[in-house]
Amino acid sequence: MVPTVPPAVSPHRRPPRGTVRAYFRNIRLALSTAFDGMSVTMSYMFRRPLTIQYPDKIDKPVQEMLPESYRGVLEVDMDRCTVCLQCQKICPLGCINIESCKNPETGNREVTKFDIDIGLCMYCGLCAETCNFDALDHTREFEATVTTPDQMILHFVEKPREVTKLKAAEMPVRKHKGSILQKMIPAFGRRHPQEVWTPTAYAAAPVPALKAPTATPKPAAPVASAAPSAADSPTPEQAP
Ligand code: SF4
Ligand code: SF4
Repeated sequence: MVPTVPPAVSPHRRPPRGTVRAYFRNIRLALSTAFDGMSVTMSYMFRRPLTIQYPDKIDKPVQEMLPESYRGVLEVDMDRCTVCLQCQKICPLGCINIESCKNPETGNREVTKFDIDIGLCMYCGLCAETCNFDALDHTREFEATVTTPDQMILHFVEKPREVTKLKAAEMPVRKHKGSILQKMIPAFGRRHPQEVWTPTAYAAAPVPALKAPTATPKPAAPVASAAPSAADSPTPEQAP
């Protein structure tokens, strides 16, 4: 025997369409659903916000809240670099470009180029791992905003400099992480870890002003004379 299935009965049985009852029911539903939605929205106005405005309303720079092992933009302390080229060889993307030569006058080896293309870098950390002298390392900087692609190539050697012959233990202490980059990328230079950082100090930090375009002098426009002067008017002799 086939069991009988009870007919589906909706708890909110709809009135027939087109009736006055259906019309007012739709209005009531529209108002109640709008109220439900807005009550959720309004409830957030009285809660503590979970989001913060970056970078103006945070207690301290995000960079200082990141772990030491964070892999940010690379920097090189040239006082500790022996130009062993290990980092250049291990980089899978060829981001690091080092050139050196022997100074014919002094006979010492000099490094003439140490470039890192941070636009190409994938922050894998292989180069920093392979450096035995703690010269190349990741910083906690990540706001590497520049205005042109060529600025993404960081030049750590401005003029030829002698390669250090010191052993790792004799080398100078490595510079504070990020301090080298701050001099190279203007956006990094706005923050100074030595100073007490406040949102006001950030806002007051000098931002390099854009150079105003110099106005090119326009050629003087000819003065239009309303009426010909007496000197311009033809003399009776000149008149035909
Ligand atoms: S940064 Fe380190 S690995 Fe790279 S050339 Fe200098 S010393 Fe060698
Ligand atoms: S982090 Fe990786 S990709 Fe970037 S320069 Fe170093 S080795 Fe190359």
